[in-house]
Amino acid sequence: MQSIKEYVEKKKRDLKEKIDSLAQPPTLVIVQVGDVEASNRYVKNKLKDCSKVGINARLLHFESTITTEELVHEIGLLNKDDAVTGFIVQLPLPKQINISKISNAIAAIKDVDGFSKLALVNPCTPAGIIDYLTDYGFEFKNKNVVVIGRSEIVGRPIARMLLDLDSNVEVIHSKTSAFNKERALLLADLIIVATGHRNTLVNSDVMNTAQKCFIIDVGINMNEDGKLCGDCEKVTERPKTPVPGGVGLLTRLALTKNLLKLFELQQKK
Ligand code: NDP
Repeated sequence: MQSIKEYVEKKKRDLKEKIDSLAQPPTLVIVQVGDVEASNRYVKNKLKDCSKVGINARLLHFESTITTEELVHEIGLLNKDDAVTGFIVQLPLPKQINISKISNAIAAIKDVDGFSKLALVNPCTPAGIIDYLTDYGFEFKNKNVVVIGRSEIVGRPIARMLLDLDSNVEVIHSKTSAFNKERALLLADLIIVATGHRNTLVNSDVMNTAQKCFIIDVGINMNEDGKLCGDCEKVTERPKTPVPGGVGLLTRLALTKNLLKLFELQQKK
């Protein structure tokens, strides 16, 4: 089996071919507020990905003191700018910013992250995971999938997408009892873990699942050696996606695909 890195590189080559064949490439704007170190790294990687597949991308940076109203105004300008195919607002935002006002200010046709209620594309992390599993021939219909975590950007949207693909989905969260967690995991064919807590899943949790039960580790944490690790770092008894080099790459790929989808929708108008 190809590594996720190889899979993503191949997909990027295909995407570049498609974008190169367009009369004009799509344009992405990344809105960043403040100077969070992790965000700087994510933004840099997103700009690099765009350049690799031939997308026009630029950063629009604001000071961390910007108000919600000022940011909403800037978003309004991007909504109206025909030269901009789509944009994202890099998270996290400073505390004084009302995130739901920001998400709701983004026009659906330009919402590349798919976070707003009327979004026309799925959020990047769930979309990237589903595309990857689909490309590898995972048959979703009637499969038992356990999603651990119920956030608005990972757990909930991926559960909805899995239901649309006819999987049997169980979502568990921090209030789920150990008994119910064990019961849910017993019959799992696929486990998607997105909690942001190390060792959410350990070998004893998965020992009774089918041998080929596959784990998607979404989490990003730091271990005691200062290295990045997922939510299932210590699980060795079942196949799982690596951290780093796993879901993060799929998420970045999905961002470029979402932009292209919006570009195509805009061309049809
Ligand atoms: P949130 O903090 O928004 O949500 C975490 C969810 O996990 C909550 O629903 C919480 O339950 C649940 N949870 C917490 N602890 C447990 C536990 N012990 N057992 C079961 N459920 C638990 O996180 P996100 O969804 O935004 O992100 C999750 C992780 O994924 C983070 O590490 C984040 O950095 C990473 N991530 C990685 C991405 C990538 O591209 N690789 C993209 C997005 C996220 P409750 O609702 O009850 O509080």
